[in-house]
Amino acid sequence: MPHRAMYIWVDGTEPSHLLRSKTKVLAEGEEPPIWGFDGSSTNQAPGNASDVVLKPVKIVPDPIRGGDDILVLCECLNTDMTPHVTNTRAALVEVAERYAHLDPWFGMEQEYNFMEEGRPHGFPRQGFPQPQGPYYCGVGSADIYGREVADAHSQLCMDAGLAISGTNAEVMAGQWEFQIGPISPLEMADQLILARWMLYRLAEDFDLEVSIHPKPIAGDWNGAGCHTNFSTSAMRENYDAVIAACEALGKNADEHVKNYGAGIELRLTGEHETQRFDTFSYGVSDRGASVRIPWQVEKDRKGYIEDRRPNANCDPYIVTRLITETVCGDAS
Ligand code: ADP
Ligand code: MN
Ligand code: MN
Ligand code: MN
Repeated sequence: MPHRAMYIWVDGTEPSHLLRSKTKVLAEGEEPPIWGFDGSSTNQAPGNASDVVLKPVKIVPDPIRGGDDILVLCECLNTDMTPHVTNTRAALVEVAERYAHLDPWFGMEQEYNFMEEGRPHGFPRQGFPQPQGPYYCGVGSADIYGREVADAHSQLCMDAGLAISGTNAEVMAGQWEFQIGPISPLEMADQLILARWMLYRLAEDFDLEVSIHPKPIAGDWNGAGCHTNFSTSAMRENYDAVIAACEALGKNADEHVKNYGAGIELRLTGEHETQRFDTFSYGVSDRGASVRIPWQVEKDRKGYIEDRRPNANCDPYIVTRLITETVCGDAS
């Protein structure tokens, strides 16, 4: 039977890239081939040289369309098959190979807001809902908005074979989180892009928009982040390596913060469970630090660290590459 392949790629929109997708009908047994698109419509090429190449890099079942349909995550290439300037995955492939012997693992916590008519889902037309307090991990229709979508999304992730590890309602009304991992750097970034695409696509059916803006509402409302948990085999065995990883991140803090998502200074204010964007600190159980060491890790004298700085709108190929380079580069 012919079936549909949804080709998915990251575009060139600034300051934050968007996801794009289009369908190719494949004959029975046909592998998804190299394909292409009009880069002049995605901020990826001028009109007089508009062809950008799509190279399939990861294929999963399409749990939204079902049947034999598939999702095909792609890298963007130039017509000479070199990585396109908007392709941040190619650089991660190199770094992940260079440090594969240290066995880096990532787990990312993607926060997001459901939006309706330009305001967060659950916010009244005028004014504000009750202040933050009951929403985080809450239950009941007075405080929870969009659970049916968040739940349907986690099922889609499982059906697509992604390593989703949990979900929760967040501190701000209408805000949610899902976690993926722990898995290798490249799998982490690829799976996060696929999970984001399924979330946007699913929310269409509920007439909701999904925002990964780092500070959807100014004032006393939490921003949206993408905490990035990280370990190497050495960190999973001894605490000195855990501390060394924190120290290495401290030495390269500016470069990380600059590349952790547009508008990061709106979110990393030192309030709302963040450290300031221009200050680096790490600490056990400290949700006001740049990097947190979970209490269990200190107790067990081994485990992983949580880099709390990445924005919800971060590029996971860049975040996982920088952390791998900084920590593994320092350790070798
Ligand atoms: P919290 O909200 O308390 O910060 P979560 O439970 O939301 O924590 O997320 C914890 C994340 O840590 C998960 O994504 C999980 O995959 C990841 N994780 C657990 N163990 C490791 C590890 N050894 N290395 C890297 N990531 C890990
Ligand atoms: Mn979390
Ligand atoms: Mn969270
Ligand atoms: Mn966290």
